[in-house]
Amino acid sequence: MQYRWILGLLLCILLAGVAVAFSVELKTETNGANLKKPSELTARELKAIYKKYNVSENDIKFATGKLPHYLESYLPDSYVVMGKLGPNGTVEEWIDVKAADHFRELGIRVLNASEFLAIREEARKAYIEKYGVDPHNPKVVLVEGVPIPKEYVRKLAEKYAGRYLDGGLSQDFADQQLKITSSEATATGPQIKNGALYLWIVEATGSERPTNEDYFDATLDAYGRFQVFNSGASLNWYFINYWDASDVTSGKLKDYLEDLKQDMGSWRSWYNDGDPQNDIMIGWIKSADDRYCGYAYINGYYSVGVTESGHYTCWLIPLNLVAQHEISHNFNAKDSTSCWEHDRCIMNYCWVTLGVDTWCDSCWNRINVNINGISDE
Ligand SMILES: [Zn+2]
Ligand SMILES: [Zn+2]
Repeated sequence: MQYRWILGLLLCILLAGVAVAFSVELKTETNGANLKKPSELTARELKAIYKKYNVSENDIKFATGKLPHYLESYLPDSYVVMGKLGPNGTVEEWIDVKAADHFRELGIRVLNASEFLAIREEARKAYIEKYGVDPHNPKVVLVEGVPIPKEYVRKLAEKYAGRYLDGGLSQDFADQQLKITSSEATATGPQIKNGALYLWIVEATGSERPTNEDYFDATLDAYGRFQVFNSGASLNWYFINYWDASDVTSGKLKDYLEDLKQDMGSWRSWYNDGDPQNDIMIGWIKSADDRYCGYAYINGYYSVGVTESGHYTCWLIPLNLVAQHEISHNFNAKDSTSCWEHDRCIMNYCWVTLGVDTWCDSCWNRINVNINGISDE
């Protein structure tokens, strides 16, 4: 009881913090901009904002995709990376030999985790030196088609959070996949099997390709948090960068999710231990015309995330929380949309906008029985 009371107090303080930050901003954002939506800003107001946030020509070019991709001269167009997470979330070596052979036959370069991370870091440094833009944390992002400083969008998100919070991160969406039938009362969805779980991290190509590369580390951070459900399990991952999502014309995340499953689903069925039940897949796209930051099948194998959402609330939620929330859905955790009517939890929209990266007891138990194949509770 006392815990709840303290929590309530803490909430008031946090909410007040947001309100104060916002009212201060109203006074300081005096260049006629007053936190307008990006699409409503005049050219003059936009210029004033760029000046205030020290935005360079290259920051804008990066956000609008007019600079080369930072890995362009370091890696071929298509490649695959394999690795696993150590007990404390560190990246370790792991190669799926069968998959590696197959990828090589297709002419796709195979990299191990440390090779990839080293190349990434080298390319990132060179890019910062050449263009003054950090591709892992760009200053300017594209929202409503307008290049706008990330900090400005966060402030906008705080302003609109109350109105949009009931929208949320994702939506219940029954997986239409054939259920694996079993005579035992065991979980039918994705689960740790043969002592391992496999996460396929998939990047979209072309105009859907994320420019903000922060999502990759964010996904690994999120994935590593699932080790608490089975400390002995090996958390392996693949990264592949050639999902063609251009045939999705609706801009809706549920359609991107379906497309990911159709286009990329076969990868997860053929490799590692040959058992697709321990293979889940998360796809990342740059933007979507939707009010969700991510979308997932509940008790299913796929999820998608957006790196530069036009839905402002998403800018209050770091991508590692988006990934953790969506992967939790795969293990049958459900959304909680009502503010504060849920213990502190990654599955509740209010808590997640405050940066909570843990599960409440009830969501924890639900994931635990599903991820360990105990039951579909
Ligand atoms: Zn959700
Ligand atoms: Zn919960």
